[in-house]
Amino acid sequence: MSADPIAIARELIRCPSVTPASGGALDYLEGVLKPAGFAVHRATFSQDGAADVENLYARIGGGPPHLVLAGHVDVVPPGNEAVWRFPPFAAESADGVLYGRGAVDMKGGLACLVAAALDHLAARGGKPKGSISFLVTGDEEDVAVNGTVKLLAWAAARGESFDHCILGEPTNPQALGDMIKIGRRGSLNGTLLVMGRQGHVAYPQFAENPIRGLVQLMSALMAEPLDGGTEDFDPSNFEFTNVEVGNRTVNLIPGEARARFNIRFNDRHTQASLRAVIEQRAAAAARGVRWRIDWMPSNADAFLTKPGPFVDLIAEVVREVSGRRPALSTTGGTSDARFIKDYCPVVEFGLVGATAHQVDEHTPVSDLTQLTAIYRGILDRYFAQ
Ligand SMILES: [Zn+2]
Repeated sequence: MSADPIAIARELIRCPSVTPASGGALDYLEGVLKPAGFAVHRATFSQDGAADVENLYARIGGGPPHLVLAGHVDVVPPGNEAVWRFPPFAAESADGVLYGRGAVDMKGGLACLVAAALDHLAARGGKPKGSISFLVTGDEEDVAVNGTVKLLAWAAARGESFDHCILGEPTNPQALGDMIKIGRRGSLNGTLLVMGRQGHVAYPQFAENPIRGLVQLMSALMAEPLDGGTEDFDPSNFEFTNVEVGNRTVNLIPGEARARFNIRFNDRHTQASLRAVIEQRAAAAARGVRWRIDWMPSNADAFLTKPGPFVDLIAEVVREVSGRRPALSTTGGTSDARFIKDYCPVVEFGLVGATAHQVDEHTPVSDLTQLTAIYRGILDRYFAQ
C-alpha cells in the first residue's frame, strides 16, 4: 500500500504551528519517519531576542549519494478566522480541494516529500541506495534565526554532508509544473537619513529643511537601474518603502527626515558591493546635504544553482509527470534555500503558491497526488544513477 500524501497533509494542517509553535507537527513527523527506519533527531535552538524553535533532522542510509529533502512546518497566522470558508486548522476538503493554513506553504509539499520517500523506500525493501534525509524547521516564516541556518550547522558539526537538496516550497505560479526555482535574489534593507536644522517655517533662512535634501537624494538613488539583469536573473531593484518626517506641526521645519528602502539584488552584487554603489550615488548627489545610510544586517545573499545534471533530472521528471516544461526561475522572495546553498546545490519545487498566506489557502487534492509522483520519480532516478 502506498503512503497517502493527503492524509499526511491533513494531519500536519491540524497542528496549529504558527511560528514559533510546532503545534505537534514535528511529533507527528517523527511518528511517521521512525517506523520507516529513519534515525530522527530533534533540536531546539535559542537566541537572545527570539523565541526558541523546535527542528527535526531525520536520516536513513549511511552512504553516498546523500539527498536532503527540506521544508518547514511553521505557518503564518490565519488572520480573521471568521472569514475563512472552513476553520484554518481543520483541514476540510470540498470538491476535490483541501483547505487550511499551510495547505500550499508548505505542509502540503512536505507531506508529498514524506509520502514519496516512504514509497521509494518501500519499493527498495526499506533501504535506500544512498542516504535520504529530512531537514525540517519550525522557523521559516518569521525571523529564521533558530531554524534551518542553525540546523545545518548542527548537522555539519555531527559530520553530516549533503550532495543535493530539494526544498519543497511552493514554486508554481499557476499550475503544477510551471516553475522550478534554481536560485533566489538577495535582499538588503537600509534607511537614508538627512539631517537639517529645525526652525520656524516663516523664517526658513534660520533653518535648514532636510526634506529638500531627502528628495534630492531619493531622486538620485531612483534615477539609474542597478544593472540590466543576467541570463538567470531579473535586474536588481531598488525600492523606497517608507518616508518619515514625523512632523505634525504646520509651522515647523523639521530637523531630520528619513526614507527606508529595500533592494532585491541578483548575483552581480554582494551586500558589500551594493552598499558601496548606493553610498557613492548618494555622495555624488549630496552637494552639501548632510546624510548617512543605516544598513540593516541581512542574511539573504543572492545565489544560483547552475543548470546542470541535477537541475536537468528534476526538470525532466517534472515534464514527464505534469506534461509541462518548467521554467528555471530565480524570481520571488527569499527562502531557506539561501542557507542550504552554503552546504550543497539546492533546487526548489513544490505546489502552486497562489493562495499562500491568504485566507482560504488551498490546494487541489490532485496536485498533492501529482507532486508526490514527481518527487517519487526524482528519488527513483536520483538513486538509479
Ligand atoms: Zn514556505
